[in-house]
Amino acid sequence: MKSTPDTIAVDTTCPYCGVGCGVKARPAMVEGDSSHPANSGRLCVKGAALHETLVPAGRLLAPRVKGREVDWTGAAGAVAGAIRDAVDRYGPGSVGFYLSGQLLTEDYYIANKLAKGFIGTPHVDTNSRLCMSSAVAAHKRAFGEDCVPGCYEDLELADLLVLTGSNAAWAHPVLYQRMKAAARAGRKVVVIDPRKTATTELADLHLALKPGTDTILFNGLLAWLADQDRLDRDYLDNHCRGFEEALASARRAGPSVAMVARQCDLAPADVECFFRWFAETPRTVTAFSQGINQSVAGTDKGNSIINCHLATGRVGLPGAGPFSLTGQPNAMGGREVGGLANTLACHLDYDSPGARELVAGFWGTDRLPEQPGLKAVDLFDAVYRGEIRVLWIMGTNPAVSLPQSDRIGEALARCPTVIVSDCVADTDTTAFADILLPAAGWGEKDGTVTNSERRISRQRKFLPLPGDVRPDWWIMSEVAGALGHGPAFRYETPLDIFREHAALSGIAGRCFNIAPMASLGPEQYDQLTPIQWPVVARADGRVQGTRRLFSDGRFATPDGKARLVAVETVAPVQSPTDDYPLIVNTGRVRDQWHTMTRTALTPKLLAHRTEPFIELHPEEAGRRGVEAGDLGILSGPDGGEYMGRIRVTPEMRSGEVFIPIHWNRRFTPMGLASSLIRPVTDPVSGQPESKHGTARLRRLKTRWHARLMRRSEVPGWSDLPGQYRVRQPLANSQLWSLAGGGEVRWATEVEDLLGGPPQLLMADPAEGRFRAARLCEGRLEGVLMVDSDGANLPDSAWLDTVFALAELDEPVRRSLLAGRALDSDDAGALVCSCFQVGENQICQAIAEGVGDVETLGRKLRCGTNCGSCLPELKALLAEVQQSRPVAEV
Ligand code: SF4
Repeated sequence: MKSTPDTIAVDTTCPYCGVGCGVKARPAMVEGDSSHPANSGRLCVKGAALHETLVPAGRLLAPRVKGREVDWTGAAGAVAGAIRDAVDRYGPGSVGFYLSGQLLTEDYYIANKLAKGFIGTPHVDTNSRLCMSSAVAAHKRAFGEDCVPGCYEDLELADLLVLTGSNAAWAHPVLYQRMKAAARAGRKVVVIDPRKTATTELADLHLALKPGTDTILFNGLLAWLADQDRLDRDYLDNHCRGFEEALASARRAGPSVAMVARQCDLAPADVECFFRWFAETPRTVTAFSQGINQSVAGTDKGNSIINCHLATGRVGLPGAGPFSLTGQPNAMGGREVGGLANTLACHLDYDSPGARELVAGFWGTDRLPEQPGLKAVDLFDAVYRGEIRVLWIMGTNPAVSLPQSDRIGEALARCPTVIVSDCVADTDTTAFADILLPAAGWGEKDGTVTNSERRISRQRKFLPLPGDVRPDWWIMSEVAGALGHGPAFRYETPLDIFREHAALSGIAGRCFNIAPMASLGPEQYDQLTPIQWPVVARADGRVQGTRRLFSDGRFATPDGKARLVAVETVAPVQSPTDDYPLIVNTGRVRDQWHTMTRTALTPKLLAHRTEPFIELHPEEAGRRGVEAGDLGILSGPDGGEYMGRIRVTPEMRSGEVFIPIHWNRRFTPMGLASSLIRPVTDPVSGQPESKHGTARLRRLKTRWHARLMRRSEVPGWSDLPGQYRVRQPLANSQLWSLAGGGEVRWATEVEDLLGGPPQLLMADPAEGRFRAARLCEGRLEGVLMVDSDGANLPDSAWLDTVFALAELDEPVRRSLLAGRALDSDDAGALVCSCFQVGENQICQAIAEGVGDVETLGRKLRCGTNCGSCLPELKALLAEVQQSRPVAEV
């Protein structure tokens, strides 16, 4: 197979978040696709760096069974043998599948068909359970089907945009840029989030509510709308059911503005302002995301939002409606095929009348399970208990992302056969694999994905398959063949699968219907332009998408009416106690994605936040005896621990900490956010309460801080000194940040740490300072910097450039132990990833008189590409300007 020439760009879709941006991709360069309706040419910093992640390092290139490389016949035979053996001895329910929102729809369809239709197990769930399953459940309860009524354009058309539980500026950056660009006189934005985030920069009103009180706020809004006679009675009468019950429960939760404000810990005037704006603005969109979904009451929270939109007749209209922002690139595609354990296929549920018979007849099988399967947390519990004997994990890293990550590791260790399909060889999860299957990655695979606004786009192949790598659908079809189900899995191309999926949607009788695409030819599929489902056939034979759903007030319920759902206030299960007084909020950072298996491949994306951290309010920091730059250890009630650098910021509420979800055991042995989260879930959706853990905080007492840099990796965590150990891949070297409280004999350790004796050495035991460098054939091989005060350690940026030099001249050699060119300035912590502009450079420019982001952009270029750093630039401007003497300002 030949690679696409470097000069021809292929239109494809970004593999990260649910915005689903169109990308024009070449092996060595990517650009935003100006013709794609989701992004019109924009890309965020992650999307713009995609080509930098197309590297061979770390790829899984051949199937492995029990650590030995085998060919595909051997691998498919081993997988089929393990499945057959488990089914024969323990029944089909002893086999589980754990899928991913990174899979393409065609892969997802085959996984669902193989597992449910031919192995006969219902236990097929996906990491989308952790992301938006509460929104799915809320949609189904309210609309009768899992449908997002609106489209991205509505976020721009809205005169009032309510963003709740969403840091869109970092989690959905391009969509955030669209919202921002839609600013106009009279348009208002309300951000509802316990934290002040980059997204609140857009807010006319920020409601920093107490975590877990969202239902109270939206129930209060419903009661207030009723009291103020601001409901759409005609709409309620003609298109909805359940209003009186919903209102009665809303009144119990929030009978007055004052009571709502008190329970949510907000100013009454702010609550009333939000209520008034909502009442007065017909074009209102409420966009919600993980801050709503990741809760024990996530489904109720979603319904409390939808209730307010139904009660005002604002669903599926231009600029009006509830809008679930999906985290993953193809979470919605997975939902379409039935990738969640409680669904069957094509938006059909197990209890939909006639659904099992319809799907069984279509697939030609008599093995369909009768009941829904286990949702993610329960699935891994069943693995732990030994009830699941074979677990096949595809394209995801549950050993990092699921709650109580240590117990997930134990469950995987106990499971007799763990099969992992992945494109990366070493992850926290592949470490447990008995069978490893090399799957195609972005750029190598071909198929479709569906973004948050129901838009199906093509992900196209522009790279050859390396080694023995194969697409997921091909791998599963081989296994199906080895199991004796070959005739039902005879697919030549992804198009064969897509057509079958589309045909099934045509007989399922749901809103999700792409039947007219069942007859697409190879050329039409190849040239498919982004299209929103449901899809209808036009008179000219072409297909047409649907921008909005339910605009006519007819819903996907048996009687065509939407349901308002009576929702009671449910307090978070993981509530603070005297022993664990802090609420732990978890979330994303701007430049990373999930567990960093792809984004950490480009050093520039790790430069924005280089290590795991703990953010907290200055008052809380004082109370806990920690300061900015200290190292903190959070301990959870189940024994899990998380260590990170303390960041002190007034943007947090007191009593709460924020930690990022990305770091894992490949980068640090103690930085997994999920280790603090208990496996408690929403009873309807099964989504874990990942936004509301609890912990206590203590400072790590340190005697020394160190930076170790090596051209190559050192053996393992246990070979490194200290309690705090974090690895950061740089462009030319690897950096380990280390710290500890015990004594280390650096003069003895240095040779092991540097991989050989150093040629340059400086030791000052009285000051706790030690510095050494190892050179080999004139090149720098390793550097060790130790200091009793971490602030004295030099930045790694200059040293990393020295690793790239073939020969070191005398000035460079003399500068090595200082850690910086003796005549250069330190750029400081990275702020703009696109143009690699550091905090010190920006502060210097501001100190010299630059007074706005536009001028900063002209001077340093920062913020002029993807725009993700603009909120940080504004914050730095405000900070530096505030700190100037009054006369200067
Ligand atoms: Fe990719 Fe999302 Fe960024 Fe778009 S906004 S480029 S889909 S990560």
